[in-house]
Amino acid sequence: MNIHEFQGKSLLRAYNVDIQEGFVAETPDQAVMVAKQLREKFGSEYFVVKAQIHAGGRGKGGGVKLAKSVEEAGTLTAKMIGMQLITPQTGPEGKKVNKVLIAQDVYYKGESAIMEFYVSLLLNRDKGRFILMYSPDGGMSIEEVAAKTPDRILTEEINPSVGLLPFQCRNVAFNLGLSGNAFKSMLKFLDGIYETFIGCDAQLLEINPVLKTSDDRILAVDCKIVLDDNALFRHPDLAEMRDISEEDPIEVEAGSYNLNFVKLDGNVGCMVNGAGLAMATMDIIKLSGGSPANFLDVGGNANVKTVEAGFRIILKDPAVKAILINIFGGIVRCDRVANGVVEAYKATGKIRVPVIVRLQGTNAEEAKKIIDESGLSVYSAVSFNEAAAKVREVLGV
Ligand code: GDP
Ligand code: MN
Repeated sequence: MNIHEFQGKSLLRAYNVDIQEGFVAETPDQAVMVAKQLREKFGSEYFVVKAQIHAGGRGKGGGVKLAKSVEEAGTLTAKMIGMQLITPQTGPEGKKVNKVLIAQDVYYKGESAIMEFYVSLLLNRDKGRFILMYSPDGGMSIEEVAAKTPDRILTEEINPSVGLLPFQCRNVAFNLGLSGNAFKSMLKFLDGIYETFIGCDAQLLEINPVLKTSDDRILAVDCKIVLDDNALFRHPDLAEMRDISEEDPIEVEAGSYNLNFVKLDGNVGCMVNGAGLAMATMDIIKLSGGSPANFLDVGGNANVKTVEAGFRIILKDPAVKAILINIFGGIVRCDRVANGVVEAYKATGKIRVPVIVRLQGTNAEEAKKIIDESGLSVYSAVSFNEAAAKVREVLGV
Protein backbone atom coordinates (compact mmCIF):
# COMPACT_ATOMS: atom_id res chain seq x y z
CA MET A 1 0.00 0.00 0.00
CA ASN A 2 1.29 3.44 -0.93
CA ILE A 3 0.95 6.39 1.40
CA HIS A 4 1.43 10.12 0.88
CA GLU A 5 4.56 12.09 1.65
CA PHE A 6 2.89 13.88 4.60
CA GLN A 7 1.82 10.54 6.09
CA GLY A 8 5.28 9.04 5.61
CA LYS A 9 6.84 12.05 7.26
CA SER A 10 4.51 11.74 10.24
CA LEU A 11 5.79 8.18 10.70
CA LEU A 12 9.39 9.33 10.44
CA ARG A 13 8.70 12.02 13.03
CA ALA A 14 7.24 9.40 15.38
CA TYR A 15 10.57 7.53 15.14
CA ASN A 16 12.58 10.67 15.89
CA VAL A 17 13.82 11.25 12.37
CA ASP A 18 14.31 14.94 11.57
CA ILE A 19 12.12 16.06 8.70
CA GLN A 20 11.32 19.13 6.69
CA GLU A 21 8.38 20.15 8.92
CA GLY A 22 4.96 20.90 7.52
CA PHE A 23 1.24 20.15 7.59
CA VAL A 24 -1.28 19.11 5.02
CA ALA A 25 -3.86 21.56 3.60
CA GLU A 26 -6.89 21.13 1.40
CA THR A 27 -7.83 24.79 0.87
CA PRO A 28 -5.91 28.06 0.42
CA ASP A 29 -7.17 29.25 3.85
CA GLN A 30 -5.77 26.17 5.53
CA ALA A 31 -2.50 26.69 3.66
CA VAL A 32 -2.21 30.25 4.99
CA MET A 33 -2.96 29.02 8.52
CA VAL A 34 -0.31 26.32 8.27
CA ALA A 35 2.26 28.77 6.88
CA LYS A 36 1.60 31.11 9.82
CA GLN A 37 2.09 28.26 12.27
CA LEU A 38 5.35 27.26 10.59
CA ARG A 39 6.53 30.86 10.82
CA GLU A 40 5.74 31.01 14.53
CA LYS A 41 7.14 27.60 15.41
CA PHE A 42 10.22 27.39 13.20
CA GLY A 43 10.78 30.97 12.09
CA SER A 44 10.22 30.01 8.45
CA GLU A 45 9.98 32.93 6.03
CA TYR A 46 9.65 30.90 2.85
CA PHE A 47 7.52 27.81 2.33
CA VAL A 48 7.20 25.01 -0.17
CA VAL A 49 3.82 23.91 -1.47
CA LYS A 50 3.99 20.23 -2.38
CA ALA A 51 1.27 18.33 -4.24
CA GLN A 52 0.29 15.14 -2.40
CA ILE A 53 -0.17 12.42 -5.00
CA HIS A 54 1.01 8.83 -5.06
CA ALA A 55 3.76 9.47 -7.59
CA GLY A 56 7.23 10.93 -7.55
CA GLY A 57 8.90 13.37 -9.90
CA ARG A 58 6.52 16.09 -8.70
CA GLY A 59 9.27 18.72 -8.78
CA LYS A 60 9.70 18.19 -12.52
CA GLY A 61 5.95 18.38 -13.19
CA GLY A 62 5.31 21.62 -11.30
CA GLY A 63 4.03 19.95 -8.14
CA VAL A 64 6.61 21.54 -5.80
CA LYS A 65 6.61 25.35 -5.63
CA LEU A 66 8.39 27.87 -3.46
CA ALA A 67 6.22 30.48 -1.72
CA LYS A 68 8.01 33.61 -0.56
CA SER A 69 5.30 34.69 1.85
CA VAL A 70 2.39 33.33 3.88
CA GLU A 71 -0.03 34.80 1.32
CA GLU A 72 1.78 33.20 -1.59
CA ALA A 73 1.43 29.80 0.13
CA GLY A 74 -2.32 30.41 -0.21
CA THR A 75 -2.28 31.51 -3.86
CA LEU A 76 0.00 28.64 -4.92
CA THR A 77 -2.30 26.21 -3.09
CA ALA A 78 -5.32 27.64 -4.93
CA LYS A 79 -3.55 26.93 -8.21
CA MET A 80 -2.38 23.47 -7.26
CA ILE A 81 -5.53 21.99 -5.71
CA GLY A 82 -7.67 20.41 -8.39
CA MET A 83 -4.97 20.44 -11.04
CA GLN A 84 -4.15 17.33 -13.04
CA LEU A 85 -0.47 16.89 -12.22
CA ILE A 86 1.62 15.11 -14.82
CA THR A 87 5.01 13.77 -13.73
CA PRO A 88 7.37 11.16 -15.23
CA GLN A 89 5.62 8.62 -12.95
CA THR A 90 1.92 9.40 -13.47
CA GLY A 91 1.45 8.54 -17.15
CA PRO A 92 0.12 11.09 -19.66
CA GLU A 93 -3.28 11.50 -17.96
CA GLY A 94 -1.66 12.71 -14.72
CA LYS A 95 -3.15 12.61 -11.23
CA LYS A 96 -5.60 14.99 -9.62
CA VAL A 97 -4.23 16.96 -6.67
CA ASN A 98 -6.61 16.94 -3.68
CA LYS A 99 -4.19 17.90 -0.92
CA VAL A 100 -0.94 19.83 -0.60
CA LEU A 101 1.77 19.76 2.03
CA ILE A 102 2.81 23.19 3.21
CA ALA A 103 6.37 22.78 4.46
CA GLN A 104 9.15 24.98 5.77
CA ASP A 105 11.71 26.00 3.13
CA VAL A 106 14.84 24.21 4.23
CA TYR A 107 17.16 25.44 1.51
CA TYR A 108 17.23 29.03 2.66
CA LYS A 109 20.69 29.70 4.03
CA GLY A 110 24.23 28.94 2.95
CA GLU A 111 23.32 27.23 -0.32
CA SER A 112 26.95 26.11 -0.75
CA ALA A 113 26.92 24.23 2.56
CA ILE A 114 23.88 22.25 1.57
CA MET A 115 24.27 18.67 0.35
CA GLU A 116 21.58 16.39 -1.02
CA PHE A 117 21.73 12.59 -0.76
CA TYR A 118 19.63 9.61 -1.76
CA VAL A 119 18.83 6.96 0.89
CA SER A 120 16.46 4.02 0.69
CA LEU A 121 15.68 0.77 2.46
CA LEU A 122 14.27 -2.18 0.59
CA LEU A 123 14.03 -5.92 0.65
CA ASN A 124 16.17 -8.18 -1.49
CA ARG A 125 14.10 -11.36 -1.59
CA ASP A 126 16.78 -13.42 -3.35
CA LYS A 127 19.27 -12.76 -0.60
CA GLY A 128 16.77 -12.65 2.25
CA ARG A 129 18.36 -9.37 3.32
CA PHE A 130 17.33 -5.77 3.66
CA ILE A 131 19.34 -3.39 1.50
CA LEU A 132 20.29 0.11 2.54
CA MET A 133 20.89 1.88 -0.75
CA TYR A 134 22.45 5.32 -0.85
CA SER A 135 24.10 7.81 -3.13
CA PRO A 136 25.84 11.17 -2.80
CA ASP A 137 23.80 12.25 -5.85
CA GLY A 138 20.48 13.03 -4.20
CA GLY A 139 17.75 15.28 -5.47
CA MET A 140 17.75 13.84 -8.97
CA SER A 141 16.12 10.78 -10.44
CA ILE A 142 17.89 7.74 -9.00
CA GLU A 143 17.04 5.79 -12.16
CA GLU A 144 19.14 8.30 -14.10
CA VAL A 145 22.04 7.99 -11.64
CA ALA A 146 21.80 4.19 -11.92
CA ALA A 147 21.90 4.35 -15.71
CA LYS A 148 24.67 6.94 -16.13
CA THR A 149 26.91 6.53 -13.08
CA PRO A 150 26.10 3.19 -11.40
CA ASP A 151 29.28 3.48 -9.32
CA ARG A 152 27.63 6.42 -7.51
CA ILE A 153 25.07 4.05 -5.96
CA LEU A 154 26.29 2.20 -2.89
CA THR A 155 24.70 -0.43 -0.67
CA GLU A 156 24.88 -2.02 2.74
CA GLU A 157 23.29 -5.42 3.23
CA ILE A 158 21.37 -5.84 6.47
CA ASN A 159 20.81 -9.21 8.08
CA PRO A 160 17.24 -8.88 9.40
CA SER A 161 17.94 -10.94 12.51
CA VAL A 162 20.85 -8.68 13.48
CA GLY A 163 19.58 -5.34 12.21
CA LEU A 164 21.45 -2.29 11.02
CA LEU A 165 24.85 -2.23 12.75
CA PRO A 166 26.74 0.89 13.89
CA PHE A 167 29.75 0.19 11.64
CA GLN A 168 27.41 0.13 8.63
CA CYS A 169 25.99 3.55 9.54
CA ARG A 170 29.54 4.88 9.87
CA ASN A 171 30.37 3.45 6.42
CA VAL A 172 27.43 5.28 4.91
CA ALA A 173 28.16 8.59 6.62
CA PHE A 174 31.83 8.33 5.62
CA ASN A 175 31.07 7.44 1.98
CA LEU A 176 28.69 10.40 1.78
CA GLY A 177 31.62 12.64 2.67
CA LEU A 178 30.33 13.74 6.08
CA SER A 179 32.33 14.69 9.14
CA GLY A 180 31.81 16.27 12.58
CA ASN A 181 28.25 16.93 13.68
CA ALA A 182 26.78 16.09 10.28
CA PHE A 183 28.42 12.65 10.54
CA LYS A 184 26.76 12.10 13.94
CA SER A 185 23.41 13.40 12.71
CA MET A 186 23.57 10.93 9.83
CA LEU A 187 24.07 7.98 12.22
CA LYS A 188 20.97 9.00 14.16
CA PHE A 189 19.07 9.56 10.91
CA LEU A 190 19.92 6.06 9.59
CA ASP A 191 18.95 4.40 12.88
CA GLY A 192 15.65 6.29 12.80
CA ILE A 193 14.69 5.36 9.26
CA TYR A 194 15.59 1.71 9.91
CA GLU A 195 13.36 1.71 13.00
CA THR A 196 10.56 3.26 10.92
CA PHE A 197 11.01 0.70 8.15
CA ILE A 198 10.87 -2.25 10.58
CA GLY A 199 8.24 -0.76 12.89
CA CYS A 200 5.78 -0.14 10.05
CA ASP A 201 6.47 -3.41 8.18
CA ALA A 202 7.38 -1.36 5.13
CA GLN A 203 8.60 -2.93 1.93
CA LEU A 204 10.15 0.28 0.70
CA LEU A 205 11.27 3.47 2.38
CA GLU A 206 12.89 5.99 0.07
CA ILE A 207 14.10 9.47 0.92
CA ASN A 208 15.27 11.62 -1.95
CA PRO A 209 16.58 14.12 -1.14
CA VAL A 210 18.06 13.70 2.31
CA LEU A 211 19.41 17.12 3.16
CA LYS A 212 22.44 18.22 5.11
CA THR A 213 21.68 21.74 6.29
CA SER A 214 24.24 24.49 6.84
CA ASP A 215 23.98 23.83 10.58
CA ASP A 216 24.78 20.13 10.10
CA ARG A 217 21.36 18.66 10.64
CA ILE A 218 20.24 15.75 8.45
CA LEU A 219 16.62 16.06 7.28
CA ALA A 220 14.17 14.05 5.23
CA VAL A 221 12.89 16.50 2.60
CA ASP A 222 10.86 13.91 0.74
CA CYS A 223 9.47 10.55 1.86
CA LYS A 224 8.09 7.60 -0.01
CA ILE A 225 6.91 4.60 2.01
CA VAL A 226 5.28 1.48 0.63
CA LEU A 227 3.69 -0.67 3.33
CA ASP A 228 3.48 -4.44 3.07
CA ASP A 229 -0.21 -5.28 2.52
CA ASN A 230 0.27 -8.67 4.15
CA ALA A 231 1.31 -7.03 7.42
CA LEU A 232 -1.39 -4.34 7.50
CA PHE A 233 -3.54 -6.39 9.86
CA ARG A 234 -0.90 -5.63 12.50
CA HIS A 235 -1.24 -1.89 11.92
CA PRO A 236 -4.87 -0.73 11.88
CA ASP A 237 -3.68 2.87 12.27
CA LEU A 238 -1.53 2.58 9.15
CA ALA A 239 -4.29 0.80 7.21
CA GLU A 240 -6.39 3.92 7.77
CA MET A 241 -3.87 5.92 5.75
CA ARG A 242 -5.12 4.28 2.56
CA ASP A 243 -6.29 6.88 0.02
CA ILE A 244 -8.64 5.13 -2.38
CA SER A 245 -8.89 8.21 -4.59
CA GLU A 246 -5.26 7.53 -5.59
CA GLU A 247 -6.00 4.02 -6.80
CA ASP A 248 -7.36 2.82 -10.12
CA PRO A 249 -11.17 2.78 -9.57
CA ILE A 250 -11.58 -0.41 -11.58
CA GLU A 251 -8.95 -2.20 -9.49
CA VAL A 252 -10.66 -0.95 -6.31
CA GLU A 253 -14.02 -2.34 -7.51
CA ALA A 254 -12.41 -5.67 -8.46
CA GLY A 255 -10.78 -5.82 -5.02
CA SER A 256 -14.16 -5.42 -3.36
CA TYR A 257 -15.25 -8.70 -5.05
CA ASN A 258 -11.95 -10.37 -4.09
CA LEU A 259 -10.99 -10.45 -7.75
CA ASN A 260 -7.33 -10.14 -8.51
CA PHE A 261 -7.37 -7.65 -11.39
CA VAL A 262 -4.63 -5.79 -13.22
CA LYS A 263 -5.46 -3.56 -16.17
CA LEU A 264 -3.32 -4.02 -19.30
CA ASP A 265 -3.50 -2.30 -22.67
CA GLY A 266 -4.55 -5.12 -25.05
CA ASN A 267 -7.85 -6.06 -26.70
CA VAL A 268 -8.84 -9.44 -25.25
CA GLY A 269 -10.43 -9.47 -21.81
CA CYS A 270 -9.59 -12.58 -19.78
CA MET A 271 -11.35 -14.21 -16.89
CA VAL A 272 -9.47 -17.12 -15.38
CA ASN A 273 -9.34 -19.11 -12.16
CA GLY A 274 -5.85 -19.34 -10.75
CA ALA A 275 -2.91 -16.99 -11.28
CA GLY A 276 -0.78 -19.58 -13.13
CA LEU A 277 -3.56 -20.40 -15.57
CA ALA A 278 -4.15 -16.65 -16.00
CA MET A 279 -0.51 -16.18 -17.02
CA ALA A 280 -0.72 -19.12 -19.46
CA THR A 281 -3.95 -17.69 -20.89
CA MET A 282 -2.27 -14.36 -21.54
CA ASP A 283 0.48 -16.23 -23.41
CA ILE A 284 -2.08 -18.07 -25.52
CA ILE A 285 -3.84 -14.81 -26.37
CA LYS A 286 -0.52 -13.33 -27.48
CA LEU A 287 0.28 -16.43 -29.57
CA SER A 288 -3.08 -16.22 -31.31
CA GLY A 289 -2.45 -12.65 -32.45
CA GLY A 290 -4.36 -10.78 -29.74
CA SER A 291 -3.08 -9.07 -26.67
CA PRO A 292 -4.51 -9.31 -23.15
CA ALA A 293 -6.59 -6.36 -21.92
CA ASN A 294 -6.20 -7.44 -18.33
CA PHE A 295 -5.09 -10.04 -15.86
CA LEU A 296 -8.05 -11.34 -13.89
CA ASP A 297 -7.94 -14.19 -11.42
CA VAL A 298 -11.45 -14.92 -10.17
CA GLY A 299 -10.05 -17.24 -7.53
CA GLY A 300 -10.75 -20.82 -6.64
CA ASN A 301 -14.53 -20.64 -6.45
CA ALA A 302 -15.86 -18.87 -9.52
CA ASN A 303 -19.60 -18.34 -9.11
CA VAL A 304 -22.37 -16.32 -10.74
CA LYS A 305 -21.55 -13.24 -8.68
CA THR A 306 -17.83 -13.18 -9.37
CA VAL A 307 -18.27 -13.98 -13.07
CA GLU A 308 -20.88 -11.23 -13.36
CA ALA A 309 -18.58 -8.71 -11.65
CA GLY A 310 -15.78 -9.90 -13.94
CA PHE A 311 -17.88 -9.25 -17.05
CA ARG A 312 -18.86 -5.81 -15.84
CA ILE A 313 -15.31 -4.81 -15.00
CA ILE A 314 -13.80 -6.12 -18.24
CA LEU A 315 -16.49 -4.42 -20.36
CA LYS A 316 -15.66 -1.00 -18.89
CA ASP A 317 -12.59 -1.03 -21.10
CA PRO A 318 -13.57 0.22 -24.59
CA ALA A 319 -10.49 -1.46 -26.11
CA VAL A 320 -11.87 -4.94 -25.36
CA LYS A 321 -12.84 -6.75 -28.60
CA ALA A 322 -13.37 -10.25 -27.18
CA ILE A 323 -13.54 -12.01 -23.84
CA LEU A 324 -11.88 -15.33 -23.15
CA ILE A 325 -13.06 -17.20 -20.08
CA ASN A 326 -10.66 -19.97 -19.18
CA ILE A 327 -11.68 -22.07 -16.19
CA PHE A 328 -10.19 -25.27 -14.93
CA GLY A 329 -12.79 -27.23 -13.02
CA GLY A 330 -11.20 -29.06 -10.17
CA ILE A 331 -13.10 -28.90 -6.93
CA VAL A 332 -15.56 -26.56 -8.60
CA ARG A 333 -17.27 -28.58 -11.34
CA CYS A 334 -17.35 -27.19 -14.90
CA ASP A 335 -21.10 -27.61 -15.36
CA ARG A 336 -21.73 -25.38 -12.36
CA VAL A 337 -19.34 -22.76 -13.72
CA ALA A 338 -21.03 -23.00 -17.13
CA ASN A 339 -24.40 -22.33 -15.51
CA GLY A 340 -22.80 -19.43 -13.69
CA VAL A 341 -21.45 -18.00 -16.94
CA VAL A 342 -24.82 -18.31 -18.66
CA GLU A 343 -26.64 -16.66 -15.75
CA ALA A 344 -24.06 -13.93 -15.39
CA TYR A 345 -24.17 -13.32 -19.13
CA LYS A 346 -27.94 -12.84 -18.95
CA ALA A 347 -27.71 -10.64 -15.87
CA THR A 348 -25.05 -8.41 -17.41
CA GLY A 349 -27.41 -7.50 -20.25
CA LYS A 350 -26.15 -6.99 -23.74
CA ILE A 351 -22.51 -8.01 -24.03
CA ARG A 352 -21.08 -6.12 -26.98
CA VAL A 353 -18.21 -8.50 -27.78
CA PRO A 354 -17.89 -12.21 -28.55
CA VAL A 355 -17.30 -14.41 -25.52
CA ILE A 356 -15.26 -17.58 -25.76
CA VAL A 357 -15.48 -20.01 -22.88
CA ARG A 358 -13.02 -22.81 -22.37
CA LEU A 359 -13.94 -25.15 -19.58
CA GLN A 360 -11.64 -28.05 -18.82
CA GLY A 361 -11.59 -30.58 -16.02
CA THR A 362 -14.38 -32.24 -14.08
CA ASN A 363 -17.63 -32.41 -16.11
CA ALA A 364 -16.14 -30.41 -19.03
CA GLU A 365 -18.34 -32.14 -21.62
CA GLU A 366 -21.56 -31.34 -19.73
CA ALA A 367 -20.38 -27.77 -19.41
CA LYS A 368 -19.79 -27.47 -23.15
CA LYS A 369 -23.31 -28.75 -23.72
CA ILE A 370 -24.79 -26.15 -21.37
CA ILE A 371 -22.97 -23.32 -23.16
CA ASP A 372 -23.82 -24.62 -26.64
CA GLU A 373 -27.50 -25.05 -25.79
CA SER A 374 -27.87 -21.73 -23.95
CA GLY A 375 -28.75 -19.91 -27.14
CA LEU A 376 -26.37 -17.09 -26.19
CA SER A 377 -23.61 -15.99 -28.52
CA VAL A 378 -20.97 -17.70 -26.45
CA TYR A 379 -18.41 -19.95 -28.14
CA SER A 380 -17.34 -22.96 -26.20
CA ALA A 381 -13.99 -24.69 -26.42
CA VAL A 382 -12.52 -27.63 -24.58
CA SER A 383 -8.83 -27.43 -25.44
CA PHE A 384 -6.46 -24.51 -25.13
CA ASN A 385 -5.73 -24.65 -28.89
CA GLU A 386 -9.38 -24.58 -29.75
CA ALA A 387 -9.83 -21.51 -27.55
CA ALA A 388 -6.86 -19.78 -29.19
CA ALA A 389 -8.24 -20.54 -32.67
CA LYS A 390 -11.61 -19.04 -31.67
CA VAL A 391 -9.91 -15.90 -30.37
CA ARG A 392 -8.04 -15.59 -33.68
CA GLU A 393 -11.28 -16.10 -35.59
CA VAL A 394 -13.29 -13.42 -33.74
CA LEU A 395 -10.46 -10.91 -33.90
CA GLY A 396 -10.04 -11.59 -37.60
CA VAL A 397 -6.27 -11.95 -37.37
P1 GDP B 1 9.60 14.78 -5.97
O1 GDP B 1 9.99 15.63 -7.13
O2 GDP B 1 8.23 14.21 -6.13
O3 GDP B 1 10.62 13.74 -5.67
O4 GDP B 1 9.47 15.76 -4.69
P2 GDP B 1 10.57 16.25 -3.63
O5 GDP B 1 9.96 16.36 -2.30
O6 GDP B 1 11.80 15.43 -3.72
O7 GDP B 1 10.89 17.73 -4.12
C1 GDP B 1 11.41 17.97 -5.41
C2 GDP B 1 12.46 19.05 -5.36
O8 GDP B 1 11.93 20.24 -4.83
C3 GDP B 1 13.63 18.74 -4.43
O9 GDP B 1 14.62 17.93 -5.07
C4 GDP B 1 14.16 20.09 -4.12
O10 GDP B 1 15.08 20.50 -5.10
C5 GDP B 1 12.91 20.97 -4.18
N1 GDP B 1 12.53 21.31 -2.81
C6 GDP B 1 11.97 20.50 -1.88
N2 GDP B 1 11.84 21.12 -0.69
C7 GDP B 1 12.35 22.38 -0.88
C8 GDP B 1 12.52 23.51 -0.02
O11 GDP B 1 12.22 23.49 1.17
N3 GDP B 1 13.07 24.62 -0.58
C9 GDP B 1 13.45 24.68 -1.87
N4 GDP B 1 13.96 25.81 -2.33
N5 GDP B 1 13.33 23.63 -2.70
C10 GDP B 1 12.78 22.50 -2.22
MN1 MN C 1 11.88 13.30 -4.18
